[in-house]
Amino acid sequence: MTTPPAIGSDMPPLEPSCPRCHAKIGRVHRKWCPVARCLATGLQRTGHDETCLCAKDTWSGRWPGAAECFEYGWTYGDGLPDLNRLMSTATWDPVAHRWIRPGHRTSTD
Ligand SMILES: [Zn+2]
Ligand SMILES: [Zn+2]
Repeated sequence: MTTPPAIGSDMPPLEPSCPRCHAKIGRVHRKWCPVARCLATGLQRTGHDETCLCAKDTWSGRWPGAAECFEYGWTYGDGLPDLNRLMSTATWDPVAHRWIRPGHRTSTD
């Protein structure tokens, strides 16, 4: 009973490198990496338009969107982020590069 459980306390530890292209945390994914996101849409970078001018995505230590799932409590209860719910419910913020809950424009509520 030292510290109360914070939001996202069931978040699994960071993974030191991308499971697909092995980019380290903070490093840019390989061009073909299916984990990399298009920072303009939040969707798979491999599927974005050739003319898209989004910045290159980096490996954050988590699967894209996983941090938001834990923050919003959208998990299956066993530490697995509910990414389907994230994709269908949340809105991608192309400036903040994160998913925003409906009705929550900012993190300050
Ligand atoms: Zn990668
Ligand atoms: Zn893009």
